[in-house]
Amino acid sequence: MSDTIKYILDEDRMPKNWYNIAADLPEPLAPVIHPGTGQPIGPEDLAPLFPMALIMQEVSAEREIEIPEPVRDVYRQWRPSPLMRARRLEKALDTPARIFYKYEGVSPAGSHKPNTAIAQAFYNKEEGVRRLTTETGAGQWGSSISFAGALFDLEVDVYMVKVSYQQKPYRRALMETYGARCVASPSEETNSGRAILEQDPDSTGSLGIAISEAVEIAATNDDTKYSLGSVLNHVLTHQTIIGQEAIMQLEMADDYPDIVIGCAGGGSNFSGLAFPFLGEQFRGGKAVRAIAVEPSACPTLTQGRYAYDFGDTGHLTPLVKMHTLGSAFVPPGIHAGGLRYHGMAPLVSHLVELDAIEARAYDQTECFKAAVDFARAEGVVPAPESSHAVRGAIAEALACKEEGQSRSILFNLSGHGHFDMQAYTDYFSGQLEDVQYDKDKLNAALAELPEIAAE
Ligand SMILES: *Cc1c(COP(=O)(O)O)cnc(C)c1O
Repeated sequence: MSDTIKYILDEDRMPKNWYNIAADLPEPLAPVIHPGTGQPIGPEDLAPLFPMALIMQEVSAEREIEIPEPVRDVYRQWRPSPLMRARRLEKALDTPARIFYKYEGVSPAGSHKPNTAIAQAFYNKEEGVRRLTTETGAGQWGSSISFAGALFDLEVDVYMVKVSYQQKPYRRALMETYGARCVASPSEETNSGRAILEQDPDSTGSLGIAISEAVEIAATNDDTKYSLGSVLNHVLTHQTIIGQEAIMQLEMADDYPDIVIGCAGGGSNFSGLAFPFLGEQFRGGKAVRAIAVEPSACPTLTQGRYAYDFGDTGHLTPLVKMHTLGSAFVPPGIHAGGLRYHGMAPLVSHLVELDAIEARAYDQTECFKAAVDFARAEGVVPAPESSHAVRGAIAEALACKEEGQSRSILFNLSGHGHFDMQAYTDYFSGQLEDVQYDKDKLNAALAELPEIAAE
């Protein structure tokens, strides 16, 4: 038996449906509110931004949503993704824990994000859309939707957070290779971008600002729709293919996790892994501890407020109830750009409030240390975002050692770090620092949260 066992599912057993946790929630989600009327929004309010098929998934209460065959056909290129037992890491940590990881870095774009990008491109194409706009932080989402746009013949315009645009030129090159246009945000192309630049010409940008730019273009052009890589219910649903595969793969390994772990930026890869397990728990199955790990520089779940807020800085989106640092909050420029978002998926926030999910935050240097330890044991170089999940898994494995307990730990290795090697170089040269967010600026951003009567 080799040291690392790869549990491979054949493609016939690739899930035929996505799992929608809305069907199993102990309490329903708070409604999405129209900022103008203060009333819950309906599907038609979202129609300028999204194709109807995705809007219906957003509000669906069906437990299973069929994956269209053309989407499955693309998934087959890299799915089912491998589940690995990290035996060498277990040995290096001298832990009695069993550590498994689901590896999403095998997709063409290098992360879990194509799981939803492919689906979104498919539905948009079906409804006659010509162009998609979107934002990207570290560039993972931008490259995923660019890849999907190339396959389904859609134009793609990506507004990329300026600090990442400068830090990660190869991500931009990848988007352009797939045929997309990549613009540094804030840009001069939109009212929202120009407004920010007027206030602060040196703005390094944020996901909230980039979202405003992409939404503005979609809302003002009939042939253009907007695409979001995380946060929304339908995005989380598309990602559940990860956890459903993991359940079948762990069956092959004759195991079931006590703990499932994912990093959380907007919450999609964490949910994709954890929701199918939480669903089993809600339907009377075995309980799991689900742990969402975020950066302490952008501590949405652990320090944010659970309140109605806008999804973007320019206040063009509806109001959703979520953990938020305030839409005006601009997190410090950490290397895990994909985790620099002021908000969180409403479903994840809701389940944290219901105590079904735990949240914790780590500094970036301890995450890089964990990622390096992981790479030296297992060979795979984690993306800076994924390093937070690695850190969480190692912490749990060490707790098992301390307590003499053999628990089963499953974490999501959401992507590889091949485009993020500058971050590793900075770490090795001691230039990577644990940047703290500005508490006064957080309080100021929280003070600007919209007042809303609905509960
Ligand atoms: C975008 C990204 C994340 C964070 O987004 P979620 O929606 O929270 O999953 C995490 N890991 C990788 C590799 C990413 O690209």
